[in-house]
Amino acid sequence: MVDAPRFRIGVIGGTGMYEVQEGSNHEGGGQSRTIGGKEVAFLPRHGIGHYLPPHMILYKQNIEKLAGMGVERIISTTAVGSLRADYKPGDFVITDQFINMTHGRDDTFFHEKVVHVSTAFPYCEEMRGIAVDSARKLGYDFHERGTVVVVNGPRFSTNAESKVFRGMGADTINMTQYPEVALAKEKAMCYLNISIVTDYDSGVEGKKEGPVSYEEVEKTFKRSLDKLEILLSEIIKKTDDRRKCGCSGSLDSAVKV
Ligand SMILES: [Zn+2]
Repeated sequence: MVDAPRFRIGVIGGTGMYEVQEGSNHEGGGQSRTIGGKEVAFLPRHGIGHYLPPHMILYKQNIEKLAGMGVERIISTTAVGSLRADYKPGDFVITDQFINMTHGRDDTFFHEKVVHVSTAFPYCEEMRGIAVDSARKLGYDFHERGTVVVVNGPRFSTNAESKVFRGMGADTINMTQYPEVALAKEKAMCYLNISIVTDYDSGVEGKKEGPVSYEEVEKTFKRSLDKLEILLSEIIKKTDDRRKCGCSGSLDSAVKV
């Protein structure tokens, strides 16, 4: 028996956002929550209580789980370090590009079939537009675009590495957006990322802050959680089931027979 899909929208909670909220229900390993008046699938990326480090997260299982719950559009939340003075702690970033510097992670569903999915524009542009409008309406300090460099972790970067990443054109740094975003693409899902800047990585020129500590990251992120919930609510309210974007066709020209 195949159940009708219950959830169209899934939220992947990042650092600091893994508590099971009051009124939420477990649903096949994920949870359901009502956000913005809609029932959405909720998955804490690191597991409840934050027990999985970034390189051990079950990225494929997480995406499979959401797909199995009927999710077509994913909103992911992450904490990021800033590589630029103007991306300040507490700012929100609507990420639009990534640079993958991770290694050893299983980053494809296609090991037995030749499939080259395009990741030229990996984040759903329609959902990014909704997020930008929502953040603007709420009067938040936010950045419409951001290139994230995703590193393997769990250690933070050296000062030399940070300099290299800045030279590559990265604005923010994180350990979990890849391969999550690429795997979502392989499932023809929409993927939106909302990042909260928590720190200045190993130090940005002209800024006294840094080097980063985990305590600092979590403290800043928690302060921003209430604002994040409001932003999510606003985005989900405006997100409908029908896709005006091209994400559902991600695989159409990707399969080599
Ligand atoms: Zn889309």
